[in-house]
Order: sequence, then structure tokens, then C-alpha cells
Amino acid sequence: MIVHRLDLALPGGVEARAVLTGRGGTASGGSSRWPFAAANLGSHVGDEPAAVVGNRSALAAALGVPAAAMAFMHPDHGRGVAVVAEPTGVVPGAELRDVDALVTDRVGIALVALAADCVPILLVDPQARVVAAVHCGWRGLALDVLGAAVAGMTGLGAQPSRLRAVLGPAICGACYPVPPDRAAALAQVRPEAVVAAPDGQPALDLRAGLRARLAELGATADLVGGCTAEQPEQYFSHRRDGRTGRQGGAIVMLEAA
Ligand SMILES: [Zn+2]
Repeated sequence: MIVHRLDLALPGGVEARAVLTGRGGTASGGSSRWPFAAANLGSHVGDEPAAVVGNRSALAAALGVPAAAMAFMHPDHGRGVAVVAEPTGVVPGAELRDVDALVTDRVGIALVALAADCVPILLVDPQARVVAAVHCGWRGLALDVLGAAVAGMTGLGAQPSRLRAVLGPAICGACYPVPPDRAAALAQVRPEAVVAAPDGQPALDLRAGLRARLAELGATADLVGGCTAEQPEQYFSHRRDGRTGRQGGAIVMLEAA
């Protein structure tokens, strides 16, 4: 289920571990059945709760933390930020509600953002030892949920110019045509995200918009993973499949071994 893994040594004998997940499968793991096969992490999509718990526990194991150390959100397509002092665990129903960004300075709490075309974003300020996980679609881009998350990190001592960000797998501009009024609304606040689909319709490149926002903040951004809609074997895509699972990104700070 893990498609990318990034480890970073922080000062003071701490390391940050970040992973991005895909849909999994026979070879790469996951407990869910169609249309959530195999590594669905979302509890709000209609999957069997026991399968979701199994997949979330596998994600915890991949990070090297107990399931009880995980913190999940119930994404809201808003700009709410939770400063996380206590994990939620992996059981459906315990997710932090009305937030799309989780921020913490606590070693040992793993923050998770879920998505299926939207962008999972992982952030770390290595020096301040503050991390965040953010879910961002077109509404989040318009509302600047990323800026809200960074403000939450700053409140814990982070500095935007020190941030390292990873933008995970998401739908690309060519696959994401939108109604002209939505494109026009985004063009007002984040013009870098507005592109043309191959047929000339207005379209959105969410990660281009987020990269521009991160550049404004002075942060370093890495793009990881390709287009969710174009890789049915590797990623869930809501736009492609409708009823489907959620992949995501997770980040945790741990005492270095
Ligand atoms: Zn695409």
C-alpha cells in the first residue's frame, strides 16, 4: 500500500517519517474488497469498518508506530486546522471533524490526510520539529487551507521559509476539466491552478496551484506520484470511479533509533 517513503533526520535525535499510500493490491497489501480494494483508508466512503481498521493499522506498522498513535481527520473541504495533542487511533468515528489540516509538535503522533484526486500534503519544519498533514481539493485551494495549516504550524514555532513540503498523488490538469464559473473563481485567488484540458475546456491543476502557494511562502516543495485518474492500478480516483476508496499521506516524528 505504500507507494513512496521519505525519511528525514531532524536535530536533537529525532527523525521524521513520511509515507504516501496507493490503492494497494494482492502483492502490496490491503484488506478492502471492490470497489474499495484494497488499501482504502477512508471510513466515510461505505467500506467495511473492519477492513478500514486493518488498512489503517497496516499504515501504522509501515510508519513504525502503534495503531493508537495515529490521528485521522474527517475531511470537510474547508480550511479548519486542528492542533493535535492526542491521537484518534484507527477506529472509524473517532476522526477529528470539521478540519482539513492536522498540525503537531508532538513526537510520536502520526498525522494522516486522505484523498482520491484531491492532494494529500505533508509538511515539516525540521528545525522547529513541527509537522502537518493537509487535504486539499479545489475548495481548499480557493480557501487557502494550506496557508491556514502553515499558520497553525507557525503558532507552534515553525517558520514558513524552513518548511519542506511533499505534494502527493492527485488528479492532473489534463484530467480535471471544471465548469467555467469554477475556473473563473479559482483564477481570482490562485491563477496558477487554472489550465486548459486537451479539449480546450478550463481545467484545474491543483498541485500547480499549491506549488505556487508554497513558493509564495518561501517553502520547498516536492511532487511525488503521478495522476490518480490515469493510474487505476495504483491509485483511487473519485472522478474516474465515483464510489471508491481513499489513499493518503502520513507523517510522524520519532526518537531516532
Ligand atoms: Zn491526468
